[in-house]
Amino acid sequence: MMPVSVVVPDEFKPLWETGDASPIVKYPAEVLRIPAKPVERVNKELRQLAEEMIRAMRQANGIGLAGPQVGRSVRVIITAAEGRPRAMFNPEILEASGEVVGQEGCLSLPGLYGDVPRAQRVKVRFLDDQNRVRVEEHEGLSARVIQHEVDHLDGILFIDKVIVETLHWEWPSGAGERV
Ligand code: ZN
Repeated sequence: MMPVSVVVPDEFKPLWETGDASPIVKYPAEVLRIPAKPVERVNKELRQLAEEMIRAMRQANGIGLAGPQVGRSVRVIITAAEGRPRAMFNPEILEASGEVVGQEGCLSLPGLYGDVPRAQRVKVRFLDDQNRVRVEEHEGLSARVIQHEVDHLDGILFIDKVIVETLHWEWPSGAGERV
């Protein structure tokens, strides 16, 4: 993959500050490029981490978030594409089919958007917050968010897969998918 170069325009720089008000780690933090470690068992600490991630995601008006985006190299993702946010631990895409191009953004690259080809449908296996193994099928936006977040766990960002000519800066309005 050929990494695109990201130069943040001045007007977007305030969005890129990380601190108490915005705990989400921004590109090019190294943690975003390291493959995250699998969860052995979902315990109280990991449930707390998921709660913190849900808070951070809501604060940033996101619909998905992955562990490395809060500085934790752990295989956990949050998805809110179907309404109530929930955590998936050790998510694994077992099957993927169809292809659809759609716009994506990323809370770790705020203000940057572009079109990314993704599978239309995925079958995903994960542990829920009670340690139960679940297998689910998702399609459309939900499938897109899961693919974007699982990529984060492997150190892959949407700018690695984006159709480069479609990359553009836009003030986040809630219109694009921010994950
Ligand atoms: Zn992202």
